[in-house]
Amino acid sequence: MRSDGTSSLRSWLRSDLSASEVPWLAASVTTLFRSGPPGSKITLAVVGDGFGPQDQDAYNTAVDNLLTNGLFAQDFFADNKSAFNLVRVNLVSLESGVGTKTYDANGAVVRQVDRDTALGAYYNGDWAHLWVEDGPSTADRLTSALSELVPERQLVLVVLNSPGFGGRGGNWRATVPLGIGWSTIAHEFGHAMGGLGDEYHERNETYGGTEPTAPNLTTNTDRATLKWGWIVGAETPLPTGGDDCTPPKPSGWNDNQDVGLFEGGGSSYRLGVYRPVVNCRMRSNDPRFCPVCAGVMEAVTAPHRDGAPLSGVGPGDSTAPLAEGAGTGYVRLVVRLEQGALRVLEARELDGPFVQTGLVTQGFAHEVRIGDRRVALGSLPDAGVSRGFSEIGTDGPREHLVYRPDAFDFVVRVASTELRGADLSELTVDLVSVEANRGDVIGELPLRDDPALDVTPIASLADLSVADLPTSLRRIVEPE
Ligand SMILES: [Zn+2]
Repeated sequence: MRSDGTSSLRSWLRSDLSASEVPWLAASVTTLFRSGPPGSKITLAVVGDGFGPQDQDAYNTAVDNLLTNGLFAQDFFADNKSAFNLVRVNLVSLESGVGTKTYDANGAVVRQVDRDTALGAYYNGDWAHLWVEDGPSTADRLTSALSELVPERQLVLVVLNSPGFGGRGGNWRATVPLGIGWSTIAHEFGHAMGGLGDEYHERNETYGGTEPTAPNLTTNTDRATLKWGWIVGAETPLPTGGDDCTPPKPSGWNDNQDVGLFEGGGSSYRLGVYRPVVNCRMRSNDPRFCPVCAGVMEAVTAPHRDGAPLSGVGPGDSTAPLAEGAGTGYVRLVVRLEQGALRVLEARELDGPFVQTGLVTQGFAHEVRIGDRRVALGSLPDAGVSRGFSEIGTDGPREHLVYRPDAFDFVVRVASTELRGADLSELTVDLVSVEANRGDVIGELPLRDDPALDVTPIASLADLSVADLPTSLRRIVEPE
């Protein structure tokens, strides 16, 4: 089980914790597939919790079923596998199974069973409590383990040793028990990577808001300005039909691949908001992504697929210009938004080419500038969200329950050469919320000033002094 990474992790933990507090018996890393240099691919790290020494084979089998032979063997993620690296982390828990919590109707915990597991997560099996939850040290233990074992990770999947249904996702991490299948993960990664909205509705409500930011939901029925108008046939009636198919959809219609305007979506609304197809993965998990959703997901993965350029510069017209000469090697910064302020939590320099997509979707986006130059740009479609999975019940699914934590971390990647010797007083990190991207080329202006975007500023970090930075970043900027 043990690999080279294991001993360094254990000794590092022991320096912080007494030996009796090391939260797992052993740790190892296995690369399940590697499509290319880590910085140029989207690395998905999968980690188990509550798998004891006797459960490791079961954990490995679950990972194979969910990912190797599940997600990455099916349609979109199989077709785009070359954009990903998949890394399995085996953390061997002291006890088998995860802790459980049971809530009453008022939200009080009426029963709690604790287990001494690697991450200390809980399964509550309750839609109203997002099914699964972190224990007090789960997030820190996960970060500690992954910073050491898979520092290049982007997507994280935590698998709990519990047979139940459910799960939650947000901010490029999902946590699931064993009772869900690969297609649920595919739906969740649609939210995480593409900022896609739900195409189902579980309530009879009428949407009264402004144009949704999700690329696959709209209130607009005008063919000329419809955001997926490019893919709608000239003969297709708009709207194309509601759930009861009135007006009836055209004959010979493919419910998953033929695009029109179908009423109902956004998880709650039967009326007033439209989706592109009758049935998409963002509606019921199992079907493929519809052409609109697939287009968004392909744009996100394209810079990472085989054949994409390896540099710090993103391709194509939907991306923003970044500084040339990014070279090889990059600095991975973890930045925290808390109480309206940004703080750099940690910095780590990683080797090899990396890809900075420069893609701006709706939702949070960040940029890093040194003076007038943009040196990093990224989208964070579901940062700041914790989303309980929808429930497949006897009355049909219930919607996602969304909870927005007051603080969240996000990852920023900057070419090492940009930071080395940089004048820190010139460095700014900006976090914005992108309400609309009119599809024009993003210019050199700061995102908040770019005419192609509707942006709400969230927080900025500027006027930095060396003392504000973690030692690890100081060493990169000012090497001896
Ligand atoms: Zn769709």
